[in-house]
Amino acid sequence: MQTQYINELLDIPELEIHQLLSIHDDEVHIEAVPLDDKQICPCCASDQAVIRKGSNGMRTVRHLSVFEKKTYLHVPAIRMFCSRCEAGFVWAYHFVGPKQRYSRLFRSHTVEQALGSTAAHSARIQKAPASTIQHIHNEAVPPLCDALYEQVWEEASESFNEENAKKLDTLLNYSPLLRSVWEWKEALHNHVHENDLRCESHSGNTR
Ligand SMILES: [Zn+2]
Repeated sequence: MQTQYINELLDIPELEIHQLLSIHDDEVHIEAVPLDDKQICPCCASDQAVIRKGSNGMRTVRHLSVFEKKTYLHVPAIRMFCSRCEAGFVWAYHFVGPKQRYSRLFRSHTVEQALGSTAAHSARIQKAPASTIQHIHNEAVPPLCDALYEQVWEEASESFNEENAKKLDTLLNYSPLLRSVWEWKEALHNHVHENDLRCESHSGNTR
């Protein structure tokens, strides 16, 4: 497999595939590094005085499946240092949150699938490119609801079952508020051209 092809499959522009570590029957492990040399300092927002100071080892991040295999990305936890601010920080990846083991795309995809109640919706998700799913997610969930969504995900991921998303389904049943967020998202999907939908008008619909 050519690494450029894998790059396109993964749909993570910030990464450069370094090597395929291993391919098993149901798993593929890929080592990748950031495309950029530097990252801006979180204090002064400049990369002028920023240098790399080695690495804190590798992070393993589950991403969307490639060829129906569970896909794990191994990326370096790069230590950075800004000599102007004397601030140390760790490389921040866009595709995965700090200290998280599932990529943003994997998370939104899995939650969408677990929460998606209609066949039509599932079909739409299955056919949509990963970047579109992320886009839909970002557009559909305002920051306030997103915080709730994140919280529910964190709770679900503690008992995350690789085989299916029954736990998340159960959680959804326990959480009328989450269900209302989901229903709001569904409504937004169905009325994507209408501008009169607001989070507040739906967050009250807790069955
Ligand atoms: Zn700085």
